[in-house]
Amino acid sequence: MTSALGKALGGLVLALALASCDSSQTADAEWSMHGLDEMAQRFADIEQIDTSNVERLGLVFSHDLGTDRGQEATPIMVGGVLYLVSAYDVVQAVDATSGELLWEYDPQVRAASARGCCGPVSRGVAVDDGKVFVGALDGRLIALDAQSGTPVWEVQTIDQSDPLAENYTITGAPRVVGDLVLIGNGGAEFGARGFVTAYHADSGEQAWRFYTVPGEPGVPDNAASDSAMDMAADTWAGEWWKYGGGGTAWDAIEYDPELGLVYIGVGNGSPWNHQMRSDGKGDNLFLSSIVAVDAKTGEYRWHFQTTPAESWDYTATQNIILADLEIDGKLRKVLMQAPKNGFFYVLDRETGEFISGKPFVNVTWATGLDPKTGRPIEAPSARYYRTGEPSFQFPSSGGGHNWPPMAFSPDTGLVYIPAQDVGMPYAAADEEQVIGAYTSGVAMDGGGAMTKEQRDELYARMKGYLIAWDPVKQEQVWRVNQVAPFNGGVLATAGGLVFAGNTARELVAYDAANGEELWSFDAQTAVIAPPISYAIDGVQYIAVLSGWGGGWPLTGGVMALQAGKSVGPNRLLVFALDGEQTLPAFTPPEAPRRAIVSARPEDEAAIARGNKLYARYCLRCHGTGVVSAGAYPDLRASGVVPSEAFSAVVLGGALAPNGMPSFADKLTSGQLNDIRSFIEARSFEDLAQE
Ligand code: CA
Repeated sequence: MTSALGKALGGLVLALALASCDSSQTADAEWSMHGLDEMAQRFADIEQIDTSNVERLGLVFSHDLGTDRGQEATPIMVGGVLYLVSAYDVVQAVDATSGELLWEYDPQVRAASARGCCGPVSRGVAVDDGKVFVGALDGRLIALDAQSGTPVWEVQTIDQSDPLAENYTITGAPRVVGDLVLIGNGGAEFGARGFVTAYHADSGEQAWRFYTVPGEPGVPDNAASDSAMDMAADTWAGEWWKYGGGGTAWDAIEYDPELGLVYIGVGNGSPWNHQMRSDGKGDNLFLSSIVAVDAKTGEYRWHFQTTPAESWDYTATQNIILADLEIDGKLRKVLMQAPKNGFFYVLDRETGEFISGKPFVNVTWATGLDPKTGRPIEAPSARYYRTGEPSFQFPSSGGGHNWPPMAFSPDTGLVYIPAQDVGMPYAAADEEQVIGAYTSGVAMDGGGAMTKEQRDELYARMKGYLIAWDPVKQEQVWRVNQVAPFNGGVLATAGGLVFAGNTARELVAYDAANGEELWSFDAQTAVIAPPISYAIDGVQYIAVLSGWGGGWPLTGGVMALQAGKSVGPNRLLVFALDGEQTLPAFTPPEAPRRAIVSARPEDEAAIARGNKLYARYCLRCHGTGVVSAGAYPDLRASGVVPSEAFSAVVLGGALAPNGMPSFADKLTSGQLNDIRSFIEARSFEDLAQE
């Protein structure tokens, strides 16, 4: 008997066993779109697994993804097939009941893997009408045949004549909107200008493009958003286009077929620092906004700006949920978002009118929202570039909520938010920004703006939560404390359950009514991707991709190690009632112990210069304070750093095939020596001597 047949029979036996012990009929149910359906609520209306039996939930199969680079994607399940996208945008089709690999497509993006802020991750594919659509890290949008995985068409969404083209990325999931497929991009920290493009799903021909921020005045954009750009340009000053302006739409794009609108969540400014970006003038539309455009033409309809004159990386790209809620006795068509800035928003999705907004985490940059307009009432300290003093504030650039999606249960009326309290000091950068390096206009020197006491206090106050939020009353109903911040996306089900992963290497089921933990599974690595649920042949399944990745384990340093070593083998994990599979044993790698030098380098000025250069060029992969959380080598223990090979790697590109690019066009050998001194000093400070 082949193992595939054995698995299939095993699945059948399981299905029969379940059918005999569960009298309720469970209809087949797919997970066909990124947020499940057009309301994007991530609420699976399947109730076989419920609060009374979830303790019987077990692994049915696991599928090894062959990487430890991190998983953020929502799988799509249609026609009995799970469509996954793993690190480096490798797409796989897997039988949804047996785990058998049907096909794999690798777009070969490893050469581009150091682009962007947050690792070679993807948040999902779209599947429609026999095609699978995937965005590649290097800016391509690719359509694959859903049966075979063979490419059908491919377009480069980034203008390759743009000198900043290599600073753009795609990490978001494409969305199918009628007969169009939509995709945005990332890269606002590196000088990108945001836009969303619609392509004809059958041919890849461009239908429309909506720019989210204005370009250089007088240069025609040849885009449907030109008239909206005239309006937006009035809210900008200075020479913002040299920095791209930002506003990248790297995640939330939701289609509302009833109203014929597409809602775009727009990202932060490039650079963050409003003084540097726009002479400190104007609201800078459409940064940090939700923009509604006509789904067929891409023409502007309305916008709501969450954070005018954005200066803190407070993107409004976080997932958008549509719902019909009774508010003040009237049924309102609303959309809901919990963006990075820490306020939970309910908007009228027909008009963009602000209905309500309240902080769902600790917010210190603003004291509240104007009850009529929703405009933030900023704290006097918030605009660090004006006061000349660091503003130590919550949330940080990581946000009160980031990309891991929240979910809404119409049964409980609650939104379940993977939220966190993480603060940081914002101080204006005192040096010229280098476009194409990390261009924030904020001093990213690894906490140099803080005393050690302040830093320790900051770390101690970092918390992660799963919050149940009443969107009508705008208040918290319950809250679960996580071990650390930056936990997984959420699934709600009709079984009265909420599923969410965490950085403590678990997938957990909670009672949706009160947050009681009812079940958990040791996944051997952090689970940050959102679970999904589907039903086939009378069996309800819960599926999730496990694997730690994204920005936090890269940049977070010692902060990201709060939950322990969370890097491990990445997998597709699929569960059902009475599943009995187990994972192979796994021992996490040991922490670095031995310093690479026997004495601290003597040139303190070189160490200080190296700190700044490290913050600009190295920190976003190798970690704050040169502490790796496991995703990339810990340079404090790297024998390469004090050796001749350091130059060959950093300037010569010797490890480019592994994803470590050459910095020859950015760094001189003198600057490289400064970086070496800084890393050696950190190594000597932290690690043992021999
Ligand atoms: Ca950003």
